[in-house]
Amino acid sequence: MQYKGSCHCGQIAFEVEGSLGEALECNCSHCSRKGYLLWFVPATQFTLNTPEAPLSTYTFNRHVIKHRFCPTCGCAPFANGTDRSGAETVAVNVRCLEDLDLSSLKRVPVDGRSF
Ligand SMILES: [Zn+2]
Repeated sequence: MQYKGSCHCGQIAFEVEGSLGEALECNCSHCSRKGYLLWFVPATQFTLNTPEAPLSTYTFNRHVIKHRFCPTCGCAPFANGTDRSGAETVAVNVRCLEDLDLSSLKRVPVDGRSF
């Protein structure tokens, strides 16, 4: 299934291909503040349809994950990282996907606070 996502002002828009059934809800200091509900997909399933240039990037802790956000409207629709095998991965904030019934998703708690 193909999902469309964007920030609020539309400066960032993207598409994700995959089967979305559950989202990770992490309790770490960063995810809890932003209210992320994350879906990890291989970068090959993610297409950014808008220019890379306006995206702002936030990193913390080990600085291995690039948390991208829109400098205009403040939405944080995805993050770039790598999985254990070194493959590029995108963590999509499913709150920024269009036409998605959040209540239909299984929420999987992640105890990131303890990592
Ligand atoms: Zn925006």
